Amino acid sequence: MMDRRHFLGRAAGWSGVAGLLLGGAGARGALRAEEPAPARPAGSSAGSLPPLKITKVRAILTAPQNIRLVIVKVETSEPGLYGLGCATFTQRARAVVTAVDQYLAPFLAGKDPDDIEDTWQAMYQSSYWRNGPVLMNALSGVDTALWDIKGKRAGMPVYQLLGGKCRVGAPIYRHASGSTPEEVTESARRYMAEGARFVRVQMGDRGSATYGAGSGAGASRGGGDGRAQASTFDAAAYRRSVPKLFEHLRKELGDEVELLHDVHERLPPIDGIGLAKDVEAYRLFFLEDPFAPEDIGYFRHLRSQCSTPIAMGELFNNPNEWVGLISERLIDFIRCHLSQVGGISVGRKIAALCDFFRVRTAWHGPGDTSPIGHAANLHLDLATWNFGVQEAVIWNDAAREVFPGTPEVKDGLMLANDRPGLGIDLREDLAAKYPIRDDPPFDLNWGRLRGKDGTILRP
Ligand code: MG
Repeated sequence: MMDRRHFLGRAAGWSGVAGLLLGGAGARGALRAEEPAPARPAGSSAGSLPPLKITKVRAILTAPQNIRLVIVKVETSEPGLYGLGCATFTQRARAVVTAVDQYLAPFLAGKDPDDIEDTWQAMYQSSYWRNGPVLMNALSGVDTALWDIKGKRAGMPVYQLLGGKCRVGAPIYRHASGSTPEEVTESARRYMAEGARFVRVQMGDRGSATYGAGSGAGASRGGGDGRAQASTFDAAAYRRSVPKLFEHLRKELGDEVELLHDVHERLPPIDGIGLAKDVEAYRLFFLEDPFAPEDIGYFRHLRSQCSTPIAMGELFNNPNEWVGLISERLIDFIRCHLSQVGGISVGRKIAALCDFFRVRTAWHGPGDTSPIGHAANLHLDLATWNFGVQEAVIWNDAAREVFPGTPEVKDGLMLANDRPGLGIDLREDLAAKYPIRDDPPFDLNWGRLRGKDGTILRP
């Protein structure tokens, strides 16, 4: 039951918000003065915390690890109180900057940072056309920054706002690769010696640009995480090599280590099904992206034929892509990239949906997610009961200096530092020392992978 004092506080909050909307002459998208403001929920001014407004929103580009990163900074009317979010869409970084600086910044000026869900819905509807990667990354950067602000305001880490810790840290997986089964085995052994219990294994076949296979002879070349550069891919040779790789790994490494593999949507769907069946005996922790998002209708056929655990979702940005796969129990791990789907607000909803269907989370965590994005992944991992595993990056010294508070990895676990908010900062002065390049080696060659006959292939 609402008491009188509380009710008056809420009423004052409503009129304050209405006045803010009516008076926001400088903010494009605000209501015109002659239009009545609709009733809407009160912000935190109804509670014990002082009123707060968004004063500035902007995107910041930096590349301390030679990968273009996009950060959103949301500043508030309280001096020194700001939030940070990851909006990295590395292949189209400047398009995200335009979406943030030219469209969201004026739309958000004067809004209450405490109204995260209301602001999310407003941003989502504000472009009328929705769910594309550029706009979702821009929106996600703001959303995550608002959670950071709320945590700082409450004096709590974000994982506390999400329900509190379910575990001490998030088990991570590392990326082992090589050109032969022996090389991959040695690479996996090195990570296991560092405490990794989960290892993703990728092997290049001579003359074929296999995804994630590192810099070995004949393998795909690329950055540290093995993104393919221009070359050709032999689907049949890859399809034959993967079961042999797993046979070798299980013989050499035993049963304790959890092994993962990413098909990266490169096979014709029927070969994705065949591969999942062929590796069933080797007990993978998961097989990732056996199909492209365009082919998700094949999951039902795969499911009926084998029990290899399936992970999917890094390219998704529309709820229609994940809701059916989860609710029909067609996948085992959801792999969404948080800044592609709507930030922490949507991540927590996806995790909750998955909980009811015993699907586990394994948020996408490559080098083109900033350390701030990895911190957001981590806070969700800690507060999600149905968490599976976290993909992780070991950051270089430059990245750690630009982003103080970057999550640490110890004995195979990613750990939160327990500071309020996301616990991570951005040194803008240092970020400026690592300007982005428009031709970074990391992603120069997306869209150039071809089959042996010259046909363009999916990445
Ligand atoms: Mg992947």
